[in-house]
Amino acid sequence: MNAEHCQNLIIGSGVAGKILAWTLASQRQKTVVVERAMVGGSCPNVACLPSKNVIYSAKAVSLVHPTKGLGVVTGPLRVDMAGVARRKWQMVNELVEVHLGKFRESGAELIMTSRRSPSLSSNSPSKLGKWPVVRAAACSGWSSTKATSPAVF
Ligand SMILES: Cc1cc2nc3c(=O)[nH]c(=O)nc-3n(C[C@H](O)[C@H](O)[C@H](O)COP(=O)(O)OP(=O)(O)OC[C@H]3O[C@@H](n4cnc5c(N)ncnc54)[C@H](O)[C@@H]3O)c2cc1C
Repeated sequence: MNAEHCQNLIIGSGVAGKILAWTLASQRQKTVVVERAMVGGSCPNVACLPSKNVIYSAKAVSLVHPTKGLGVVTGPLRVDMAGVARRKWQMVNELVEVHLGKFRESGAELIMTSRRSPSLSSNSPSKLGKWPVVRAAACSGWSSTKATSPAVF
């Protein structure tokens, strides 16, 4: 069985794992990150940034609400949740691209263990579908938040 050797193996590409990986890799230490779901972890995908993105739409609605007395007169007000979700997804996709770029720049290798999102699955596409055996001198597990996103978003 072929085995890949590295100095650092990090489980989870969240804020903790990715910063550690980018730092170690930029110090020329061979570093592999194994991620099962979200490139960059909860924050850019389902937590900090997406929540603020959606809350911003709600804030906009609250500002034009007639009972607030701000003097804004509108026609019938309607929230297009598909549009809200589209805006959020555009932001998330851009953030994922930024993260993939950071992995490429630093030299840290990202291995996605989930096959659900092939387009996001690896910055090393050759790894797709044949999960390598990775042997590492140091292994760190970084997975704290259990944030998820309902299907509607
Ligand atoms: C709704 C919401 C809003 C938030 N807003 C803010 C905010 O405004 N400001 C702020 O500072 N913080 C905010 N947070 C908190 C912030 O998101 C977390 O503190 C941060 O994401 C934690 O980073 P982490 O690396 O510890 O974990 P995570 O970002 O959760 O990363 C862990 C990663 O490990 C992966 N993983 C887990 N187990 C495995 C496994 N067995 N194999 C492979 N991969 C695995 C997960 O898929 C995940 O990508 C918010 C959280 C939520 C839920």
